[in-house]
Amino acid sequence: MDLGCFQGQIMHEASIIMSILDTVTHQCQKEGYHSISSISLQIGKASGILPDALLFAFDIAKAETIARDAELIIDKVPIGGICSKCNKEFDTDEAFIFECPYCGSDSVKITRGYEMNIIEMEVD
Ligand SMILES: [Zn+2]
Repeated sequence: MDLGCFQGQIMHEASIIMSILDTVTHQCQKEGYHSISSISLQIGKASGILPDALLFAFDIAKAETIARDAELIIDKVPIGGICSKCNKEFDTDEAFIFECPYCGSDSVKITRGYEMNIIEMEVD
């Protein structure tokens, strides 16, 4: 793997993690909690976010925050879409799909797989 590319990717995940930590920290302080034990994220497979890089960045970034003992749980969302011709829903491993696997129509719409949501957080 090209190291420069990897570092560039890590920078991407690091900035995502910083903004997640920012959000959860503010939320906790507002509600009077002092530590976070876990954060659950939903990451779509087409989001371009690498879960491994996210975990790596999280372990570094959490050190000075109230989430320092927190575990990051990542729920990977498969890529899926719907065909506007036959109305069938489908899952795919490709981030870019150009035709319906059922009828071959090119009027397909990707409906999931781009998520990046904080779905749950456990606090003390
Ligand atoms: Zn179709």
